[in-house]
Amino acid sequence: MDRRTLLKSLVAAALAGCDPLPTETNRLRVVVAGAGIVGASIAYHLARAGASVTVIDKLGPATHASRGTFAWINATWAKQPRHYHALSQDGVANWKDLQQLLTLPVRWGGSLEWFDNDERQELLAAQIAEQAEWGEPARMVGASEIAELEPDLNISSGVSVAYSPNDGAVDPVIATQRLLAAAERLGATVSYPCELLDASMSSGRLTSVETSLGPIAADRLVLATGAAPGPPGRIAGIDIPQRSTPGVIALTNPMPRLMNRVIVAPGVHMHQRDDGRIVLGEQDGAPGNEAHALRLEGRPNDFPDEITARQHGDRIREIATRFVSQIADAKIEATHIGWRPLPIDGHPVLGASPARRDIYIAIMHSGVSLAPVVGQLVARELIEDAAIERLERYRPTRTFEQIERY
Ligand SMILES: Cc1cc2nc3c(=O)[nH]c(=O)nc-3n(C[C@H](O)[C@H](O)[C@H](O)COP(=O)(O)OP(=O)(O)OC[C@H]3O[C@@H](n4cnc5c(N)ncnc54)[C@H](O)[C@@H]3O)c2cc1C
Repeated sequence: MDRRTLLKSLVAAALAGCDPLPTETNRLRVVVAGAGIVGASIAYHLARAGASVTVIDKLGPATHASRGTFAWINATWAKQPRHYHALSQDGVANWKDLQQLLTLPVRWGGSLEWFDNDERQELLAAQIAEQAEWGEPARMVGASEIAELEPDLNISSGVSVAYSPNDGAVDPVIATQRLLAAAERLGATVSYPCELLDASMSSGRLTSVETSLGPIAADRLVLATGAAPGPPGRIAGIDIPQRSTPGVIALTNPMPRLMNRVIVAPGVHMHQRDDGRIVLGEQDGAPGNEAHALRLEGRPNDFPDEITARQHGDRIREIATRFVSQIADAKIEATHIGWRPLPIDGHPVLGASPARRDIYIAIMHSGVSLAPVVGQLVARELIEDAAIERLERYRPTRTFEQIERY
């Protein structure tokens, strides 16, 4: 029996609960580069399935998009077409399972979403109707129901709002840390700061991963490196067309409960965590601000100083105050810049590089919503050395069309 067949049968037996997990000598050795929420979930699911896992990150866990994210868990209207909506629905469902297993800080309650222009509103209503046909329990609601759902929300009486009761939001930094801690309890190693530099190959197969801390012997390398432009082309030998866009996220001090749902209003997104902190996300970016545009050229994750950070936080808080007036009393505790890992067609990139087949790419937007389901599916593809049919649409070899979904 070859190594892969032996491994497959051991894992199948272990998952069926009738045999011990694979031993040290026959475990698949996987290096996961990137300790954001996507890499953390892949590492956890791989470790759970018996792989020998090393996670490396050039800075540390949840220091990039998985910190500067709004962290809304959803499968709602923008998740088109149906196959992507279905994958996102599984992401939502799997968060519920993971939350139970690992005590993750996810707050459920749904989302309310609307726009201030008629064209967008019409499209929103049409997409909600379509998703309702696909089984999503979303619907448009009017002012009286909104007042019951969110009594502190100021909204003009004629507005109709998309209500998606299945949605939630998570503290992405704590969730990433807990996924990594759970992976470590299953034997994984997490190493940072440790930069992925290269991959060493022999006869077309991966032998080791070269890092700033030295080589790591490996059978597979997963690139969960988010919006970082270099790794896919330089290390996997395939360029992934991305249009990574920035967004500013501000966090307030703990406030009395003002909202129970994710609120996606014109110009601002918000939700309130269990600890009372409100997460505010900008929708349109800083208006005509040349200094900000210049600052963004270096793709920073933080503002250069506290004053600038506070100015941007206050700007977003002002918009939020139009919808929930008590937010005027909130203090901004932190402001981050997040860069979306965003393949140009808006869909995840999942699969082995055609140039170096032991290098697997896992780069996506909506990585918070998708992390649990992607972690599970990628772990299965790697461990079983199989191609899962529902991931075929997301391969790095597809033809990328430019579609602006976000
Ligand atoms: C403003 C904003 C709002 C968003 N809102 C939502 C939302 O509401 N819902 C949702 O589902 N998604 C949302 N997203 C998208 C989501 O946050 C991302 O898809 C997700 O965080 C990606 O996670 P990741 O682990 O792939 O990437 P990251 O969190 O960026 O992690 C990648 C990691 O790779 C490491 N790395 C890079 N290069 C190397 C290297 N050479 N060696 C070692 N390590 C390396 C980095 O240090 C980093 O830690 C939002 C994103 C942003 C920016």
